[in-house]
Formats: sequence, structure tokens, C-alpha cells
Amino acid sequence: MLTPQIIAVIGAGPAGLAAAESLSSDGFDVVVYDQMPSPARKFLMAGRSGLNLTHSEDLEKFLSRYGLAKSWLAPMIRTFSPQALQQWAEALGQPCFTGSSGRVFPKAMKASPLLRAWLARLQTRKAGFALRHRWAGWDDNGSLLFETPQGVVRVAASATVLALGGASWPRLGSDGDWTHFLPPESLTPLQPANCGFTTDLPAAFHEQFQGEVLHSVMISGAGYSARGDVTITRRSIEGAPVYRLSAPWREVLHREGRLKITLDFRPNSTEEELRARLEGFRQRESQSGKLRRLGLSPAARWLLREFTAVDARAPVLAHNIKACPLDLTAPDSLLRAISTAGGVKVEALDDGLMLRHRPGVFVAGEMLDWEAPTGGYLLQACFATGRHAAEGVKNWLRQQA
Ligand SMILES: Cc1cc2nc3c(=O)[nH]c(=O)nc-3n(C[C@H](O)[C@H](O)[C@H](O)COP(=O)(O)OP(=O)(O)OC[C@H]3O[C@@H](n4cnc5c(N)ncnc54)[C@H](O)[C@@H]3O)c2cc1C
Repeated sequence: MLTPQIIAVIGAGPAGLAAAESLSSDGFDVVVYDQMPSPARKFLMAGRSGLNLTHSEDLEKFLSRYGLAKSWLAPMIRTFSPQALQQWAEALGQPCFTGSSGRVFPKAMKASPLLRAWLARLQTRKAGFALRHRWAGWDDNGSLLFETPQGVVRVAASATVLALGGASWPRLGSDGDWTHFLPPESLTPLQPANCGFTTDLPAAFHEQFQGEVLHSVMISGAGYSARGDVTITRRSIEGAPVYRLSAPWREVLHREGRLKITLDFRPNSTEEELRARLEGFRQRESQSGKLRRLGLSPAARWLLREFTAVDARAPVLAHNIKACPLDLTAPDSLLRAISTAGGVKVEALDDGLMLRHRPGVFVAGEMLDWEAPTGGYLLQACFATGRHAAEGVKNWLRQQA
């Protein structure tokens, strides 16, 4: 079966929906395809932790979060800026607030009301939806191929936006399978970003302490430091400060196979202050007793006991509390990462995000080769590239007319 010509947006995540919104509001016939039975499942999952839409910091600082990709993402984010994203959410009836860290959230602290209002508006603009449609490349005539419960469907689109996401949390729909349909030379391998890291600690440690949070620790390694809550999982350590350092740490581990980091369990105290407090405790008290009196958690005490000299003298203990060593062995699985690095190379695209080797096919969102820390930078770039790809489609169709 061949459907009449429409613009196909494949992927109903924030990037695809942003592209569909821009196109349908200019009167184009758009159909959004997705392999899942309902749209934007990862966006809804992001809502479980409050939906950090964007960040309020100065735009130059904001743009610097994209590292090397800043040079090509910046014009797109300047066009659809953090303020524009906030206004967009507010126009959909979801007022936002800025948290003490500068992160911007909808007041509802979830994604479902925003998504509901967004989908309703898309439907009034006549954007169509075809769910349970798994994109499986092109046929020999250049028509899009979809696997559906009713069999294979072919679509001859006038233009296509691919917004298929990365490869983390595949049960939410983005499984990275699209890499099979694009030439390998146009892709950087997909890798975990904002991810945890496996350690060389014995399995017994992870079993005993999984779920325990090391509160407000400073972690340092490869010349970078970050502070916050670190969670112990069944095989790794994760949490906001680990995610923040994941890009440089991933590179070091890729090169060297191992990375030594240190944990500072008391970043608010200097070594001298800790030493003075420890000297106030009874001389003959055990190391473990002293650590307990300092309020260190069972997992922190275990690490200090196993990896530092068993020496309860105040100077030694104070030093170890400030710099407990830990070896990381690898980034944790891409399947568990918050986002994906790698993807379609910018060199494979023109200024409108159109694939050079496939005129009329545009790419947006996390499937592009950029990465950023958590903090609202991920969604911001997905929205901005989705809208930019839609502009690319409009310009291209104008040129074809
Ligand atoms: C737990 C978690 C929390 C997060 N929290 C935040 C946050 O607070 N702030 C933030 O900025 N970012 C957050 N993110 C990241 C953010 O959700 C993603 O960066 C964003 O959703 C990516 O948008 P996208 O549209 O590019 O791709 P996706 O949202 O992944 O959407 C891609 C869509 O394509 C569909 N698809 C894939 N392959 C096919 C195929 N072959 N055929 C048809 N359809 C297909 C999928 O089903 C999916 O619906 C979070 C991520 C996770 C996992």
C-alpha cells in the first residue's frame, strides 16, 4: 500500500513533535510515525524527576555546555532559546519556575499535562499520528518502509524528518536500531552519556550497599571535580555529579581502560578541621567508631576500611576522608544511561540538518552527534533542532517547487 504524499516525521519524542508543530502550524500536511503505541514515552519518563525543561543561566554559558557541538548548535538554540522554550510551555498552560540551581521546570513538575496540551494542539493543526509504525529504512524507490501490526506500509513522503532519539532506555522506544539504515561513514558510534561507571569493588559491596546514597560528596578524577549525591547501584556508581563528569571520564576509560578517582566525604571541612575533630575523640577508639561519630555512612566507612590504611590516627584518617581512592573500570551500559553521545555527524548534514546523501531527509534531536550534561540542556537542544529541521524542510520544499 502506498499513501499519498505527506511530510513524514518519524519519532514522536520532543524533537519530532517540535518539528511537526512547526510544519503543521505553517499548513503542511504532516504525519508523525512512532513504533510505540503512544507518543513521547521518554519525555514522560523525564517528567518523573520533575521535567527539567531548560536552564536560566546566561546564554553564552548555556551554549558552552555543548562542548564542540556548540559551533553548530548555537544558532539553532539562539533561534529557539531557553526563554522561548519556557514561553512555549507557558502558552500550553504550564507555568514554569526556576529552581535554586537555575534549572527551569514546569510548576506541575511532570510532563503529562504539557504533553496532553501539546498533542491536543497538534491535532487541531491537523497533524496526523501513525503509532505502532516501526521505520525500517527505504525501499528501492525511496519510499519509507514501516513495519506495522497490519504488515509492511510504504510511504512516499515529500520530505522526512528523522527524530528517532538515542539508544538509552530502549523500552521507552528509542533503541538506536536506525543506525542500520544510514551509511556507517555518516555516524559516530553511539555511546553512553550522563551515565554511571562500573567500579572494581567486589560484587559483595554493590550487593550490600545498592541504593545507598553518599550524600553531598566531592568526586574528582582526570582533572575534573563535581559535588552532589552519588548513588551506589548493583554494579556501578551514578548520580548527578557522576553524570556531569561522564564525558571526560568516558574518554579516559576508552583510552586507558581504568580511571582512579577520589571521594571527599566531607567537602565542607578542611583536612585540618577534620583532624582537630578526630583528635577530640578518645585516643583508643577504633577507626570505625571515629568515622561513625563523624556521621559517615556505612558504605563510606566500608570504603575507608577497605581502601585506606587501617590507621585510626587523626592525621591519616582526616586525609583519607578527604581523598578516598576508587578505581572505575568502564562506563555503565548505554541501556541505563540518561542520554546518548554519538549519532549522525554534523559533516553528513547541510545547514538545514538535511542528510547530504539523501536529499529531502532531515535529522533532529538526540540522534544527532552532540552531548550535554543534565540540567535542561538535552531537551533544549532536542526542541531547537526539531524546529530547525522543520525550517530546513520548508526551505527545501520551496526550492523544489
Ligand atoms: C530517566 C530520564 C530522565 C531524563 N530527564 C531529562 C530532563 O529532566 N531534562 C532533559 O533535558 N532531558 C532529560 N532526559 C533526556 C531527554 O528525555 C531526551 O534527551 C529526549 O527525550 C530526546 O528527545 P528525542 O525526541 O531526540 O528522542 P526520544 O525522546 O528518544 O524520542 C524518539 C522517538 O522515536 C521513536 N523511534 C525510535 N526508533 C524508531 C523506529 N525505528 N521507528 C519508529 N519510531 C522509532 C521512539 O519510540 C521515540 O518515541 C531524560 C532521559 C531519561 C532517560
